[in-house]
Amino acid sequence: MIAASAQSIARRVAARQDSAGAVVAAAIERARAVQSRTNAFTEILPEHALARAHALDAALDAGAAPGPLCGVPVVIKDNICTTAGHTTCASRILAGYRSPFDATAVARLAAAGAVVIAKANMDEFGMGSSTERSAYGPASHPTASGRVPGGSSGGSAIAVASGVVPIALGSDTGGSIRQPAAFCGVVGLKPTYGRVSRLGLVAYASSLDQIGPIAGSVADAALALRVIAGHDPADATSLPDAAADMSQPLGRAPASLRVGVVGPEATEGLHPGVRAALDRAAGALRDAGAHLVPVQMPHAEHAIAAYYLIATAEASSNLARFDGVRFGRRAALGPLDGIDELYTRSRSEGFGPEVTRRVLLGTFALSSGYADQYYGRALRARRLIKGDYDAAFAHGCHALLTPVTPGPAFMIGEKTSDPLSMYLQDAFTVGVNLAGLPALSLPMGTTPDRGQELPVGVQLVGPPMGEPALLAIAALVENAGTSHA
Ligand code: GLN
Repeated sequence: MIAASAQSIARRVAARQDSAGAVVAAAIERARAVQSRTNAFTEILPEHALARAHALDAALDAGAAPGPLCGVPVVIKDNICTTAGHTTCASRILAGYRSPFDATAVARLAAAGAVVIAKANMDEFGMGSSTERSAYGPASHPTASGRVPGGSSGGSAIAVASGVVPIALGSDTGGSIRQPAAFCGVVGLKPTYGRVSRLGLVAYASSLDQIGPIAGSVADAALALRVIAGHDPADATSLPDAAADMSQPLGRAPASLRVGVVGPEATEGLHPGVRAALDRAAGALRDAGAHLVPVQMPHAEHAIAAYYLIATAEASSNLARFDGVRFGRRAALGPLDGIDELYTRSRSEGFGPEVTRRVLLGTFALSSGYADQYYGRALRARRLIKGDYDAAFAHGCHALLTPVTPGPAFMIGEKTSDPLSMYLQDAFTVGVNLAGLPALSLPMGTTPDRGQELPVGVQLVGPPMGEPALLAIAALVENAGTSHA
């Protein structure tokens, strides 16, 4: 069940047909019910949210101009800083941490009239694909019992798929917006690198991280992007022309639309439900007048290796700040313990096993004598992968159609003992981050799997700053999963 759209909530609140207070109170009630089934939230914020909503109502009653998201309840992934509540990245090392400022994306949502009602559960520091690696315990799929919701933005995807909020923020370093969106049957948009400010996003891998929306529809994802995108002088990687031009109406495709489709060899081993979803999407694109053209991605097979070297290398450096002195919870020390024990014990107690593994891998990949062999080669592979995408777009493709994941949501516990099988989940998403491109995960119906019916998505990848066309194309085929099923 998806909530009323953000557009319709904002319209009704602006017209004073609904009060922000009533909308937010209902969202909080629903969040509590969903929390008891799924563990989607690290924290629900009733006091903050109701106070904000009542202040909004008072301002609107006094004649203030309504923002485009006025009265819309939203959920924020817990690695994005909010002054409301805590920001823990679902890690013990940040237990109790309160941010002194709002992330730029959060401030922009608030300025548009949105109300933060909860922080979302996630894999610790964004490291995972299942939301099982959280200090708050695993989250569960919103409709299929015993399954994961995907990750690492699992809580954000559950919140939207369960009708708590129409829009949630996630972060995507290697698929963490798109993969849970696909598993839960909602829309997920990873913007072009530099489109949305990273100020206030706790860094995992800075050259890959990007904040983006998870939403119940393409139109709401577009609305959220328009609000959060834009240049931010406080983020050195923010693009000067980052504001999203959404003047292109949704549902109208670019003239002579061309969509690239990767050859069958790239999609070997796919779950039959994912293949069927790709066929449905391709059929809908053809019906809409698109020309489907085969494209080659000769270096795609190196994406996982390159990603897991670059992401862990950057993580080992970014997470060095959590030392129990400047940042992070400090371990209790004995009278004879020194600074080394302080660092070691604080970090050992504070980080979970997957984060520890990533820091060790990354430190090794960067260590002297090995850096060129591992990190250096990964950077070279990254350039080749980017070149594959550049070539596809140079041939006039407006977007590429690919899977999001090899299969639908897997069972809780199915992949936790084998990190490599978890990493392989990311085969179709990490290349997009390595190349800095925008990509959207679009629900495309459901598939049976081991006795359960599960959502399945497809991915549309665009050229840099190609979000307007990407959203327009997605809106064209948005309902193909149900109508063609
Ligand atoms: N699953 C990938 C990882 O563990 C991607 C995570 C993300 O995008 N934050 O690194």
